[in-house]
Amino acid sequence: MTMQQVFYDFSIFNILKGKKPLLVCDKIFDTFGIKFPCKVMRFDGFSSNPVYEDICTGVEILKKNNCDFIVAVGGGSTIDTAKAIKYYSGADYPLMAVPTTSGTGSEATHFAVVYINGEKHSVSDQCLLPKYVILQSNLLKTLPLYQKKCTMLDALCQAIESWWSKRATEESIRYSKEAIDLIMKYMDSYLKNEDSGNAKMLLASHLAGKAINITTTTAPHAMSYKLTSLYGIPHGHAVAICLPKVWKQMSNFDDIAIALGQQNHEAAISFFEELLQRLNILPPDNVNKEDLDILTNSVNIERLSNNPVQFDKKTIKELYREILEV
Ligand SMILES: [Zn+2]
Repeated sequence: MTMQQVFYDFSIFNILKGKKPLLVCDKIFDTFGIKFPCKVMRFDGFSSNPVYEDICTGVEILKKNNCDFIVAVGGGSTIDTAKAIKYYSGADYPLMAVPTTSGTGSEATHFAVVYINGEKHSVSDQCLLPKYVILQSNLLKTLPLYQKKCTMLDALCQAIESWWSKRATEESIRYSKEAIDLIMKYMDSYLKNEDSGNAKMLLASHLAGKAINITTTTAPHAMSYKLTSLYGIPHGHAVAICLPKVWKQMSNFDDIAIALGQQNHEAAISFFEELLQRLNILPPDNVNKEDLDILTNSVNIERLSNNPVQFDKKTIKELYREILEV
């Protein structure tokens, strides 16, 4: 199994001396002022949800330029793109990930999402777990507040879903609990964009990533993807509006409630719903009743096998009706 090394500054960049890395980054990369100790081949020509054609372009640049390292600097999609480039290159390039949001935990997982002909696919291999990770909280400083809210909620949902997942282990629950503790404690500081809050949230998101690396996600995630593609709402936003409704259907998991500082699951569900209100994370308002079938049919039953309670199509449709308030 690939071991991962985590750093909190850029000192590990020293290992890039004399290397020829492919830099996979967002367009905002230049605002960070990150200096490499070597020449890099830059690849930033991909859409925010990585499509297969973009990945192929990345592989081509990697091979044509004889790159010997892959470095990803960006949000979850960027890190996923870098992982997918490694996957489809068929070779074992060392991979370094520098997350610039505190949400997806992609730097801590061995899978990546790729869109092939508009369909969401997940590629998975132990070698996709980045060997080196840099958690540098200064990179979060310039994130817009709405994006910070969405990524934080993604981390929180990932920690909760991993905890209640059928595949949860002692180790994954420990990561979930640590992530939830940090999110609860540092949420305000993070939303105020304070350094300590940013640093702790980046760590929380990394821990939530380690949790789902073991368990993968459950129903709220499975139900969220079509909300994102249909209404254009960010991933964390879409997952967060699903989670409390899903939790209601399961009526259990008081231990997760306690981690959230609540007495029992009912109180935790109310707490979560109030949090969404307070953060102004609401359902989209351009929903048609006809969308309910499209949404219901989009849910990947395979992903649901992980959910502690099995939902049939009828329940999923009912859930969507509740989530979207139609
Ligand atoms: Zn997520």
